[in-house]
Amino acid sequence: MRVYADNAATTAVSDTALAAMLPCFQEFYGNPSSLHTVGQQASEKLSLARQVFAKRLNCEPSEITFTSGGSEADNQALRSAAAAGAKKGKKHIISTKFEHHAILHTLERLEKEGFEITLLEIPKSGVISPEQVRAALRPDTCLVSVMFANNEIGTIQPIPEIGKLCRETGVLFHTDAVQAAGHLRIDVKAMDIDMLSLSAHKFHGPKGVGVLYVRKGCVPLVNVICGGAQERGKRAGTENIPGIVGAAAAFDESCANMEKNAAKMTALRDKLIDGLTKVPHSILNGEREHRLPGNVNLCFEGIEGESLLLLLDQKGVCASSGSACTSGSLDPSHVLLALGLPHEVAHGSLRLSLSEYNTEEEIDHILAVTPGIVEYLRNISPVWDELEHGQRKHVI
Ligand SMILES: *Cc1c(COP(=O)(O)O)cnc(C)c1O
Repeated sequence: MRVYADNAATTAVSDTALAAMLPCFQEFYGNPSSLHTVGQQASEKLSLARQVFAKRLNCEPSEITFTSGGSEADNQALRSAAAAGAKKGKKHIISTKFEHHAILHTLERLEKEGFEITLLEIPKSGVISPEQVRAALRPDTCLVSVMFANNEIGTIQPIPEIGKLCRETGVLFHTDAVQAAGHLRIDVKAMDIDMLSLSAHKFHGPKGVGVLYVRKGCVPLVNVICGGAQERGKRAGTENIPGIVGAAAAFDESCANMEKNAAKMTALRDKLIDGLTKVPHSILNGEREHRLPGNVNLCFEGIEGESLLLLLDQKGVCASSGSACTSGSLDPSHVLLALGLPHEVAHGSLRLSLSEYNTEEEIDHILAVTPGIVEYLRNISPVWDELEHGQRKHVI
């Protein structure tokens, strides 16, 4: 049995999205900037896709820009807000310690360019409070960027409250909604969101397509890619029509089935959490309430997450120790460290991220194999030996 439980890293393209994309390769292959019929057919596809995102996010089609992915959308949002801030002498940015690296690394660059960055601490719950944002605001703050839901621990942030606070104080508000999209209702107007990033491959669309929403008139977009005048001059390069069409079809489908899918995934998620937290010296990272329907993230004391992943893979289970971006490095996840977990505990992390394609039999399979693997790894671990014999103190 093969169980794919790494949907926070990427998802399978849905049948609906694939069917929408296929005619764009050989039939509607035009360049939407061309004036002839074939070009205009592609242009029509592009405009329909823009309308889908606008309708589902509650904004105008002209407020939607397509990018090469979530990372580019994040980069462009932060760079644009920073440039506008700098013009007014406002060079302070507020974000959080557990953002995706597309945000954190862009902020590091901006810091080198003379911006001051405040990264909010993450409470044990994994949910920051609007009060933390309020306390960090300064007269020279030009931007607040807080993710909608965290990609490792799945905790959902109080976006409407933060949006309201920013709107009242006249500070731009960006949210990386890559993990929330397709799973949680997003209404940019009701939530006072000025800028928002999405990525198609996290909601059963294709890789290499992102969406950046920017509220009309709130900030001029800075080009991160220079070239032609595509996307009304905001993002150069011939539009990825098959990708954009697939992204729109996938987003429409996910939004249409959101409640049904969320109910199914939440039940599977809770079964996993209940079963896996029965393993002694294990802990659920981030609170269960305010959590994405498909996210499970635990630490098992005394083991290495990497070894656990390899053995799970041998049993057909595809999981992750945290973010796909930190896999391959030996550092524990910056998100788990931000939660206050000690290094040695953060090393023993396991993230299982579900989609609506997962089944109850698959969950039963994960529950059947995981505790045995944890026990096996503990039995061969010198650290566990010391923990069991009291030479080291259990942390969890
Ligand atoms: C995956 C992800 C991104 C990056 O999106 P890409 O399309 O892969 O560039 C950004 N932010 C979050 C929260 C993500 O999960």
